[in-house]
Amino acid sequence: MVDVYIFGILWEEIVNWFLVQPIYGQILVLVGVIALLALAVVIVYYVLKGVAYLVYYILKGVYYLLKGLGLLFYKAFEALYYAISGETKPESSTPAQEQQAAPQVEKQPEPIITVQKTYQTIKPDVAFCSECGSKFSESMVQTLSNNGFVHCIHCGKGFQSRSMPIES
Ligand SMILES: [Zn+2]
Repeated sequence: MVDVYIFGILWEEIVNWFLVQPIYGQILVLVGVIALLALAVVIVYYVLKGVAYLVYYILKGVYYLLKGLGLLFYKAFEALYYAISGETKPESSTPAQEQQAAPQVEKQPEPIITVQKTYQTIKPDVAFCSECGSKFSESMVQTLSNNGFVHCIHCGKGFQSRSMPIES
């Protein structure tokens, strides 16, 4: 057997010391160990979370930095191009577009039609009416599998198979 050392103490010595303790002492030690483990797990969790956030914001920062640099280079080359070619830079059309923006048409919210579901969805293997408790007849099961829906022949409650939803 391999001797395991924890903080320079032999594991077997720890076990032997633990076993000679009175029962409440053992319980206290166990509670303490569990509390320490829980604390360690919580600390590890928050450390990992912090690291993940850090990495996320670093990547985000790098992304915006590269985006800004790209835009800067683009503008610089654009200006250089117009300076060399002597062409006049076409006016940006954004302000005109902004002025042309049509007044916001108030959209009337679509009236929500509540469709009352008269069919209860059931699994194909369920063969008893939930309303009156009578067993589905052969013809009812057949109708259910053929049409996807069926009405109880005893109480008239509607059922539909799960695979074929019905808009009533
Ligand atoms: Zn029924």
